[in-house]
Amino acid sequence: LINGAEAQVREFQYQVRYYENRKLHYRPAGKKAAAADAMRDRIEKQHSVKSAAEAVGVKVEVEGDRRTLSGSAAAYIRDAQKRGAAEAAEQARLVTAEFTRVVRKTYLDEITREDVFRFHEALRKRGCEARTVANKHQRLISWLRFSGFDTSKLPPKPRYEEQLPTIYTRDEVSTLLANADGRMSLLIRMGYLLGLRDQELQHAEFRDINWSENTYRVRSKPKWEFMPKTWEQRDIPLFEDLSAELKERQEQQPGQSLILGTKSGTPDRKMLRSLKLLAKRAKLNCGRCDGCKGKNKECQEFTLHKLRRTFITAMLRNGFDLRTVQSWAGHRDIQSTMRYLRPAGAKEIQDKLKKTIEW
Ligand SMILES: [Zn+2]
Repeated sequence: LINGAEAQVREFQYQVRYYENRKLHYRPAGKKAAAADAMRDRIEKQHSVKSAAEAVGVKVEVEGDRRTLSGSAAAYIRDAQKRGAAEAAEQARLVTAEFTRVVRKTYLDEITREDVFRFHEALRKRGCEARTVANKHQRLISWLRFSGFDTSKLPPKPRYEEQLPTIYTRDEVSTLLANADGRMSLLIRMGYLLGLRDQELQHAEFRDINWSENTYRVRSKPKWEFMPKTWEQRDIPLFEDLSAELKERQEQQPGQSLILGTKSGTPDRKMLRSLKLLAKRAKLNCGRCDGCKGKNKECQEFTLHKLRRTFITAMLRNGFDLRTVQSWAGHRDIQSTMRYLRPAGAKEIQDKLKKTIEW
């Protein structure tokens, strides 16, 4: 309200106003309501401790306006929650916790350029891909900026080469299937015909299938504390063959709710291991990767996630549009789906060329 009338203000700043020894103080608190609120909270706490201590005759020196990493992280996470950005809040929680653990510092003003490099290094060491390191860097900078830290002296986002997602070849899939028992074969087919994530496969239930519509619904399973990555349900069309196979499986194991559960009816946490064993038995190991050279000879080329990548790539190649494939894959943003748009392979080009000139 300006002179009693409502008005839009573009240039503004929050201030925390408080009394100390009967003197009025102002402290600039930036442009973010949540950050300003956190500052108010901090000042209030400092003062309540101070007056309580002084009441019993202890003199307290209040340390200036130094923001702690933990306090500013909490404010940043709360801000994402208030915006209803659940995924961002989750990312904020992960990145702030990991950064704090790596740098082992208390105050925001202690953060240096070197700390950010150490953070990158720690992420790489624990196996993060270059793309993930870059994303986490972005999140870190966004947090520090939110907290009023001058980020201009910090290192830029690390560069990385955008890799094409690797997928299974038709031959690999058919060799796997030829060597698989009924259960493994269903696991593989659900992987590359529905594009489910590892955890989604583990928690897949017969009740998720709509038999009349021939669709499969990915949803949360509170019983096992499972929540889909993007916090939302999605429907995926079900191939008729796969639908028939699922029906058969249900008849074979009456009373079981999980499609690929263990004998005792719990989610199977060893699916990935089973797939690697199958690849080894089928003599598909690449023989070059660290996994193949290790003592268990479990090839790194074989993962459940690669079935999902194969699904997404195949759908795009077969002409389904980006929006549709994005919804089947459960990608929050279209960029994730776009990574799968790749130039046609040599064989496809040859086939197409042949058709083009055969008039
Ligand atoms: Zn290998």
